Amino acid sequence: MKKDFDPRRLDVKSFAEAAGELEGHERLGDHPRLMAETGGRGADTRLAWSVTGEMRNPGHVHPEIWLHLTADTVLSLTCQRCLAPVDVAVAVERPFRFVQDEAAAMAEDDSSEEDLLALSRSFDLLELVEDELLMDLPVAPRHEVCPAPVKLAVADEGFEAEPEPRENPFALLQRLKTRKAE
Ligand SMILES: [Zn+2]
Repeated sequence: MKKDFDPRRLDVKSFAEAAGELEGHERLGDHPRLMAETGGRGADTRLAWSVTGEMRNPGHVHPEIWLHLTADTVLSLTCQRCLAPVDVAVAVERPFRFVQDEAAAMAEDDSSEEDLLALSRSFDLLELVEDELLMDLPVAPRHEVCPAPVKLAVADEGFEAEPEPRENPFALLQRLKTRKAE
């Protein structure tokens, strides 16, 4: 019988035992920590994610519990060169192994190259998605080629369209004088 799994309250072990699969997409606006990075831009941008559960070595006394996560979205960050918004695609694809508790995760973490998390019956998968995307952000986002700064472009146009040189004030004065004398 197929079980329903809730990504906000995931029973990780059952999910792995069932070789569960979940996927979804949501609004960027529902992730306040990502929205803080964009300064509020792109609330309606789509954030897609998927996860599969895996029980490795299920006959063993201590079978390994794994989740394989993917997530991607596009964030409107601030270009560190021109300070204009720049769209940056962020994507993660990462496996996590779940161990008995936080202490076990801490103890094993140094010696393990795997990403370890503590097993939970009510795991917030979407929180993990947000964590991982935040970690994938570039330190100094930049346009490959910055768009021409808008203000400078306007000034250039103004320069080209500058009117004819004004009449020499002395010539003007001369003409006034002439007229007076008439
Ligand atoms: Zn730029």
